[in-house]
Amino acid sequence: FLVNSFQTTYKPVLSSESNTATLPVMEAFYTLQGEGFHQGKAAYFIRLGGCDVGCFWCDVKESWDAAVHPQKTVAKIIEEAKKAISFQPSAVSPIFVITGGEPLLHNLDELTLGLKNEGFKTNIETSGSSPLSGYWDWICLSPKKFKNPLPEVFAAASELKVVVYNKSDFKWAEENAAQVSADCKLYLQPEWSKAQSITPSIIEYIKQHPRWQLSLQVHKYLDIP
Ligand code: SF4
Repeated sequence: FLVNSFQTTYKPVLSSESNTATLPVMEAFYTLQGEGFHQGKAAYFIRLGGCDVGCFWCDVKESWDAAVHPQKTVAKIIEEAKKAISFQPSAVSPIFVITGGEPLLHNLDELTLGLKNEGFKTNIETSGSSPLSGYWDWICLSPKKFKNPLPEVFAAASELKVVVYNKSDFKWAEENAAQVSADCKLYLQPEWSKAQSITPSIIEYIKQHPRWQLSLQVHKYLDIP
């Protein structure tokens, strides 16, 4: 009985007839990733419409209704991204961040396969509250109290980013951290409207619990998208 040691890496390839699935696109822009593990890196963001989580402090409530955002084919989404970044194939390509809304309300298999075939790194920002789809280089799980993450997303998360609104959120952050893998990066991020008042408490908490790191929304301080 022989085991083929070369059958370990699945490299999907799409035909040119593919990329016809559509997704509701609220906006797309090329900027820097402002927060979390990849902060400071060039990143092309696409914000998909649709969210069923309902955070009261949400700053993109206009994303909630998917029906008001235009449907675009995967082929069109990728074409626009390549145009926006003046795409030059290289060893280091920008990361492609899919956010929302709640992007996992949509099946993201075709989009992420298409992006990988073009050499993009695929990142997602998700509450983890809908079934996991897609092929990811990085999964940023930002859990929300209003609709808990699914176990499959906890297990796959590369980064756990907990938004801290008040001090009671530290206990909730630990409850979430207990469910991710041992190598998942842990971040505490002040909710933007509370950043002035809650950040000192986060700093003190991290000094006492150094497995956590501080994530600041640098793009908001810089006033860039
Ligand atoms: Fe807003 Fe994100 Fe919460 Fe949805 S999950 S309500 S988009 S903050």
